[in-house]
Amino acid sequence: MAMTAIPGLKRLWRGVHVPEFKDATNRLPIRRMPFPPMLIVPLSQHAGAPAVVIVREGQEVVRGEPIARAGGFVSVPMHSPATGRIERIGLAPTARGPLAPAIYVKPYAAASQEVLYGEPQDIENMTPEQIVKAVQETGVVGLGGAAFPTHVKLKVPEGKTIDTVVVNGCECEPYLTTDHRVMVEHPGEVLHGARIAMKAVGAARAVVGVEDNKMDAVEALRRANTDSSGISIEAVPAKYPQGAEKLLVKVLLGREIPSGGLPADVGLAVFNVATLAQIGDLLPRRQGLIERVVTISGPGVSRPGNYLMALGTPLGFALEQAGCSAAAASVILGGPMMGAAAASLDVPVTKGVTGIVVFTHQAANGNARIFPCIHCAECVNVCPLHLNPSRLGMLARKGRYEEMEATLHLNDCFECGCCSYVCPSHIPLVQYFRVAKQMNRERKART
Ligand code: SF4
Ligand code: SF4
Repeated sequence: MAMTAIPGLKRLWRGVHVPEFKDATNRLPIRRMPFPPMLIVPLSQHAGAPAVVIVREGQEVVRGEPIARAGGFVSVPMHSPATGRIERIGLAPTARGPLAPAIYVKPYAAASQEVLYGEPQDIENMTPEQIVKAVQETGVVGLGGAAFPTHVKLKVPEGKTIDTVVVNGCECEPYLTTDHRVMVEHPGEVLHGARIAMKAVGAARAVVGVEDNKMDAVEALRRANTDSSGISIEAVPAKYPQGAEKLLVKVLLGREIPSGGLPADVGLAVFNVATLAQIGDLLPRRQGLIERVVTISGPGVSRPGNYLMALGTPLGFALEQAGCSAAAASVILGGPMMGAAAASLDVPVTKGVTGIVVFTHQAANGNARIFPCIHCAECVNVCPLHLNPSRLGMLARKGRYEEMEATLHLNDCFECGCCSYVCPSHIPLVQYFRVAKQMNRERKART
């Protein structure tokens, strides 16, 4: 039986209402994409140490077979997305531009999408430590975009206690509907993954937070939540950027994660719905992560939808399948608020890619001209973390990056883009903040 609503559910006061553009894909069933002629599996598609190659060029592999092992505790293995041959081990393009080590897998022409590797395992009798290890073996990372290894989040830090697992089903970015479709079509896997997470961290309850623009997902989860396992499904008012974990836990539970702190500091562990759906699906079969659902949408796409595609599929192939128009001028990985432009169409889809949004020339160049700050304070009013983006922007323009971190909490900024979105002077504040953080990181690495 489903638990009842949490009394005193809060709402997100700051943030912005952005046009959603989700209608093009949110009612379409997930479609499977064929294999491309070549799959490119980067060794570093997650936070932490890169994976270490365990195959050689020319070797035959089957779909789901491990091809790289984890490079440490904060790292995950890679599995072959198709049955085929290791064509090459070498450098490959990445979303941000520089080349990085990768394994090229050439699928056999007749390769089916059946997974040929794995065996059943008994999760019920596993200890929390065994679950953490088994989850690492799946190679699952945060599929909401962060790509942080999930098993690391399942290991409770020394001296901390987790009482609640928070499941993030907000998906507040415009255009993206991958989590939405996963919740509608695979609610059982989401809930099974949530129960595994509860067992691993020792939490008695889980709360799934879903924005109220996805009531079919709320209903699907509530229908599937039949075993009185301590899981409740909560609809929260839709507002960007509610999917940020700090904001969601405040709205759902009234708890505040301290500046520079983690959810574990306030007794919580937070996971994205698609991540838990993969855990719920893969763990009982001891299989690895080899595919994910990706939203392909935007004005430059004629067949928008949610595509289940092999990891390593090059963007160019994926866009061809989705009918990318010749007028496409800009390809964004992730949503338009927090995503980044892809450096090339040879870049492969990796574990953290939630969506591919294609803009036409006109849409991509909407806000080109930048004007001086008029001190209207619009950016201050919308910042969900109560930062001062106007002052941060002023310091960024002067190159005073250290001061931004030391006195104005630059590192608390999670780059939601609300400040840039409302700025009437079109000042690219969030881009300034990304540069400032990068400069501070590089300075620290030098000292
Ligand atoms: S300062 Fe950072 S957190 Fe605040 S609105 Fe801007 S991008 Fe978002
Ligand atoms: S919204 Fe733009 S113009 Fe207004 S205070 Fe902020 S930076 Fe200045």
